[in-house]
Amino acid sequence: MKTLPIQKEIPKFKGLIKIDRESQIPLIGIIQIGIIDRGSSLLQIRASTACNMKCQFCSTAANSYDIHPYNYEVELFYLIDWVKEVIRLKDNQVNQINIDSVGEPTAYKDIVNLVRECKKIPEIKLVTMQSNGTLLNEELIKKLEKAGLDRINLSVHSLEDQQSKELFGSNNYNLKKILENAKLINKSKIELNLTPVYLPNINDKQISDLIEFAKEINCRISIQKYEIYKYSRKMKKVKEQNWFKFYRKLEELEKKHDYKLKIGPTDFEIYKSKRIPLEFKRGDIITAEVIMPGWIKQEKIAKANNRVITIVDSDAKMGDKIRVKILESKDSIYITKKV
Ligand code: SF4
Repeated sequence: MKTLPIQKEIPKFKGLIKIDRESQIPLIGIIQIGIIDRGSSLLQIRASTACNMKCQFCSTAANSYDIHPYNYEVELFYLIDWVKEVIRLKDNQVNQINIDSVGEPTAYKDIVNLVRECKKIPEIKLVTMQSNGTLLNEELIKKLEKAGLDRINLSVHSLEDQQSKELFGSNNYNLKKILENAKLINKSKIELNLTPVYLPNINDKQISDLIEFAKEINCRISIQKYEIYKYSRKMKKVKEQNWFKFYRKLEELEKKHDYKLKIGPTDFEIYKSKRIPLEFKRGDIITAEVIMPGWIKQEKIAKANNRVITIVDSDAKMGDKIRVKILESKDSIYITKKV
């Protein structure tokens, strides 16, 4: 893309916002795209917001265009420039990259090159990726293996075809193909880590089946807790568990199946490290220039001090320079409001 066009009004239809070097849009500061540092040796990198599924419990509400009218995509080498900048800001205290997304990482057209370029960075020992598995096939798995991908965290929530279709919100979900892909990954140099979301009273039996499947093919399984956020898609019949109950359930399953299920950061070679220094702190009032529509309909994205910030409840126009107050700055994700 050339420089992001300045629009006086944000169109009501969905669209794709492409971000490249020419756009000069910083890649630190927002949740949906760019680089996220949570104070550990692992960087989360997000190249695209697109997803091909519509899971009933999606924490990001991917593909709900009434909530997210826009998708975003970052040009490969611009993203790599910023990965290197983040490593510099963290005094090189980084050892791995997890390619994740508020959507599906393999929906990014340059996914193989992204893995390869990340792996070339001297500090990076491991490159891992989240995936729902639906866009994987034998050829792509081989390419990812050759590019140096170390692990795929595969979201699979049931071993029943119809239930899987319902949970993923798509009749195109093909469980047989996913399980074939899982076996292909497991036979490759890429480690397979199954990452089912435990939905109490919905997939209890299926979680047990998945543990047995992991045992059978001898791969890791990291059960995820179902979490509810303001904009997440919610399953009416499922209650969110607290962490105490969730870990108790993991302990119970661990004993029942005699398989390791309580897995922490050290199992994945993740350690605490220096954070990206904050540009702004809570309560600061700053001037920022509005540069793109927000990921959530009522939001705008603005730029200040080489960071991007989200302005909530904003009807500002592209190019406006406005005064905003920093409401949150955790993990260098800046949430602001007009003053
Ligand atoms: S695959 Fe992931 S991002 Fe896509 S809808 Fe499902 S949970 Fe959301």
